[in-house]
Amino acid sequence: MVHQFDVIIVGAGGAGLRAAVEIPSGYSCAVLTKVHPLRSHTGAAQGGVCAALGNLEEDNPEWHAFDTVKGSDYLGDQDAIEVMCNDAPRAIVELEHMGMPFSRTDEGKIAQRRFGGHTRPLDPDDPDSKRVAVMRACYSADRTGLVMLHTLYENCIKNNVRFFSEYFVTELLVENGVCSGVVAIEILTGEIHTFHAKAVMFATGGDGRIWRITSNAHVGTGDGFMMAYNAGLPLEDMEFMQFHPTGLWKLGILVSEAARGEGGILRNKSGERFMERYAPTVKDLAPRDMVSRAIIQEIREGRGIQGSDGTSYVNLDLTHLDAKIINEKLPEITGFARTYLGVEPTKEGVPIQPTAHYAMGGIPTDVDGRVRLDNKDGIVRGFYAAGECACVSVHGANRLGTNSLLDLIVFGRRGGKAITEFLKSGAELPKLKADAGEWTKAKVAEIKFRQSGEKPAPIRTELQQIMMDECGIFRDAKGLQKAANRIEKLRQQYKNVVIDDKGLQFNTDLLEAIELGNLLDTAKVVVACALNRNESRGGHSREDFPERDDQNWMKHTFAWNNGEAAPKIDYRPVSVTKYKPKKRVY
Ligand SMILES: Cc1cc2nc3c(=O)[nH]c(=O)nc-3n(C[C@H](O)[C@H](O)[C@H](O)COP(=O)(O)OP(=O)(O)OC[C@H]3O[C@@H](n4cnc5c(N)ncnc54)[C@H](O)[C@@H]3O)c2cc1C
Repeated sequence: MVHQFDVIIVGAGGAGLRAAVEIPSGYSCAVLTKVHPLRSHTGAAQGGVCAALGNLEEDNPEWHAFDTVKGSDYLGDQDAIEVMCNDAPRAIVELEHMGMPFSRTDEGKIAQRRFGGHTRPLDPDDPDSKRVAVMRACYSADRTGLVMLHTLYENCIKNNVRFFSEYFVTELLVENGVCSGVVAIEILTGEIHTFHAKAVMFATGGDGRIWRITSNAHVGTGDGFMMAYNAGLPLEDMEFMQFHPTGLWKLGILVSEAARGEGGILRNKSGERFMERYAPTVKDLAPRDMVSRAIIQEIREGRGIQGSDGTSYVNLDLTHLDAKIINEKLPEITGFARTYLGVEPTKEGVPIQPTAHYAMGGIPTDVDGRVRLDNKDGIVRGFYAAGECACVSVHGANRLGTNSLLDLIVFGRRGGKAITEFLKSGAELPKLKADAGEWTKAKVAEIKFRQSGEKPAPIRTELQQIMMDECGIFRDAKGLQKAANRIEKLRQQYKNVVIDDKGLQFNTDLLEAIELGNLLDTAKVVVACALNRNESRGGHSREDFPERDDQNWMKHTFAWNNGEAAPKIDYRPVSVTKYKPKKRVY
């Protein structure tokens, strides 16, 4: 079946829904999502969304931009960062007007709290003075993403946006630099649909499921990355994956940085507040890459706490916090600790370990969501991306907490505006790619009708473990090469993948098998890019190249599909406006 729309948005998280709200009602717009919109991972976001509102202490967007540049380890594009930070206060007020129920101060203003890496100079007139943590994160208890997602969804319903829920998109149709639509499997019936459109936006989220310990939802399988990559488009900075310091031990379920923003402290085996040694000024509120490395170092040097199974963790101590703060501001995450680990956070430390959390890299775009065709200034006509699947790049080598929800609403809106301009300029329906749907049909047939072969689950488990072991927080050439070889073997095994369910309706076996292909191929790109970057920067820490090397590596990686061989790699310069690279100390 072929559908025609002016705009197709793939993904119903914060980025996709914010873009959809922006499309004027005179144009037909449909959002496709493989899960119900309200089950998108944005709904799991806990801690907050930042803007220099200055509701509780002096703040300004320039300080926010400086923090974001420094947090990115100077890999973020500074022009894009300025766009985001300057637009943040407006974006928050807009959400409030859409109906988002923020937590409030006693005077009724939007409440704000501290988050890692967000600072202000102690002397506002001297930007070089000592910097201390600032209250910049707006929040709704520890359910910020959930209420944001609900607010945006309600606004989409109000604007008559059409939803195709539980449609699994498998192909991006791009030919000669022009995008003509997507192909999707309707999960309920197994039917294959073609969506022919003037403009397509990807807002497909991240790829955290490549790693065994992750905070990401099961849908975070990098589908958007691989559809773009397989359509011949480049991916940017895929080596940069953020490990969040505080995942529940062994499970990876996130305990928001808000816990430390509200005063929580990390402690090692002897109860020491070890972050004082690594980041003397901001301590537990250092950026995530640094805190995650510090935790692993404590464990490696024998100062972790050993669990019954031999693996180690450190404690997140909230016991000194007022019960009122815990109950009113951190109800969800303390509930997780009780439910999943059986610990009582008001009385004892919460065992935590770093967890794979956020893809800084992705589909390269300009500040208006237009997808780059190459590492120069080429643009794919009619194709846009926003949110975690996109790389603008505002997060560079390491994202600051609460900057992602901000990225969704700033660049989701800008992408929506750019699409509207494109439609108003008289964009026509492009010629539909001739072989639309052929790949999907062949793939489904091949997987379903194979009678014997390799089951997906063991392949996935092995992939996730090798990525944890060799392409996690610390990396080196030897380990990465081992991972590359292993992934290649798993990719060969996958060519013979077999599933039990041969039916049409709700064939989740089939979908998981297709997702596994995306996981394997995304991991291949991540590892190749990590092996290629011979320096340590932000979330990419090479033990064989422990220093940041601005001379040779202050540039974005661009990777293209090179068939069975490792991806083809080239670079794009970082945009620098006013912040010259400095050593990163906190
Ligand atoms: C536990 C957790 C807590 C977080 N807390 C915060 C926080 O407090 N502050 C902050 O700033 N950031 C936070 N983040 C990060 C932030 O929430 C995410 O980066 C962001 O929500 C991603 O939004 P998105 O719109 O890009 O995509 P998502 O919300 O991930 O949605 C992706 C969408 O794409 C769809 N999709 C994907 N593939 C396909 C396909 N093949 N076919 C059809 N549809 C598809 C999915 O169905 C879904 O609708 C957190 C992340 C996690 C995991």
